[in-house]
Amino acid sequence: MLSAGSRAFSALARPTLRNATTPAFARSPAALRRLLSALAILEQRDGQLNTGSLSAISAAQKLGGSVHGFLAGSNIKPVAAEAAKVEGVEKIVAVENGAYDRGLPENYAPLLVENIKKGGYTHVIAGNTAFGKNVMPRVAALLDSQQISDITAIENDKTFVRPIYAGNAIATVESSDAIKVITVRGTAFPAAAIAGGSAAVEDGVDPKAESAAEWVSEDLAKSDRPDLATASRVVSGGRGLKSKEEFDRVMLPLADSLGAAVGASRAAVDSGYADNSLQVGQTGKVVAPELYMAVGISGAIQHLAGMKDSKVIAAINKDADAPIFQVADVGLVGDLFDKVPELTEKLNKA
Ligand code: FAD
Repeated sequence: MLSAGSRAFSALARPTLRNATTPAFARSPAALRRLLSALAILEQRDGQLNTGSLSAISAAQKLGGSVHGFLAGSNIKPVAAEAAKVEGVEKIVAVENGAYDRGLPENYAPLLVENIKKGGYTHVIAGNTAFGKNVMPRVAALLDSQQISDITAIENDKTFVRPIYAGNAIATVESSDAIKVITVRGTAFPAAAIAGGSAAVEDGVDPKAESAAEWVSEDLAKSDRPDLATASRVVSGGRGLKSKEEFDRVMLPLADSLGAAVGASRAAVDSGYADNSLQVGQTGKVVAPELYMAVGISGAIQHLAGMKDSKVIAAINKDADAPIFQVADVGLVGDLFDKVPELTEKLNKA
C-alpha cells in the first residue's frame, strides 16, 4: 500500500508527518473547481443503475471540484440519463458497448484509463464493491498510481482516512500521485440522491481493448428482500441457529416482519446455513443500517468489523457474557428458538 507516492500514519502521529505542500482544500471554491476534477465510476446491471454506486458521487462532491460520472455497457443511454439527474454532477460520460456489461477488469480497466486521460481528472472514485475491488487496482497500476482503498473520510484533496486491521485502527493516507485512484466505503458516503440535476450526457472513448477473459455465466442468489449492503434494517443469524432449516424457519419470518435484509456470521455461512453473499464482517459485507439485530452471534471482532457502525444494535443470545452485548444497545438473554418466534409474532400483530 505504501510507496513514495503515498504514506500512512496513525491519527496520533498526524501533525509530525504532514506534507508541507498546501492542499487544494485551502483554496477558494472557484479555484477548487479549476484545480480538481473527479470521475465517479457508476455501476449498472441489466440496464438498472446501481444506486449504491452513487456513493462515489457523494465522495467526489466532498472534494469541491467538478464531478463527472462514468458508465459503460449496452443500452447505456437510459441509465446515463437517470444518473444525470443527480444534483451537482456536470457530465455523465457514457460508453455504449455490451462488452462492458459485466465489468470484466481485463477490458474495463483500459477503457477507464483512456477516459481518465482524455478527461484530465485528478481523482477517480469507485465504490469499494466487488466491481470496484476488481477493476480499480488495475486502473491504478495502468496509471502508475497507488490505489487508496475503502476510505471513510476525505480530509483534503490528497489526504484520506481508512480503517485498517478490521477497523481497529484508523490510517490517514496522504497521496502525491497526480491521479488519485480511490475506492469508498458505501456506509461512510450515503448514495447521492437522483434529483435536482440535469447533467449533460457525452459519449466516452472506447478503445475496444482485446480481453483475454470472457464472460461465461453467473449463478446469483435471488431474493425479494432488501439488499444487504444498503438495507436500513438487517437481521443476522449465527452458529446458534444450528442448521440451515432452523436458520430459514427462525430468521426469514423475522426479516419479513421487519422488512429487513438477512445477514449471517461467517460461522453460519461456513456451516452452510446461509449463502456466502450474506456474510457480514471483515471478510464479508460492511453494513451500517438503522437497526442491526444479531441472533445467536457471539460478537467476534471480525464480525463486529462489519456491523459496529450500525445506528442501533440489538442482540439475542443465551450467553449473558457473549461479547456482542458489549456493543449492543438492546440485549435479550435467552434461547433464540423461543424468543425470536415470540418477537416475530408480536411484530406481525403490531
Ligand atoms: P459462535 O462464535 O460459535 O457463536 C454462536 C453464539 O450463539 C454463541 O454466543 C452462543 O451463546 C449463541 N447461541 C447458541 N445457541 C443459542 C440459542 N439457542 N439461543 C441463543 N443464543 C445461542 N466472522 C464473521 O462473522 N464475519 C467475517 O467476515 C469474519 N471474517 C473472519 C476473518 C478471519 C481472518 C478470521 C480468522 C475469522 C473471521 N470470522 C468472521 C470468524 C469469527 O472469528 C468468528 O468465528 C465468527 O464470527 C463466529 O460466528 P458466530 O458468532 O455465529 O459463532
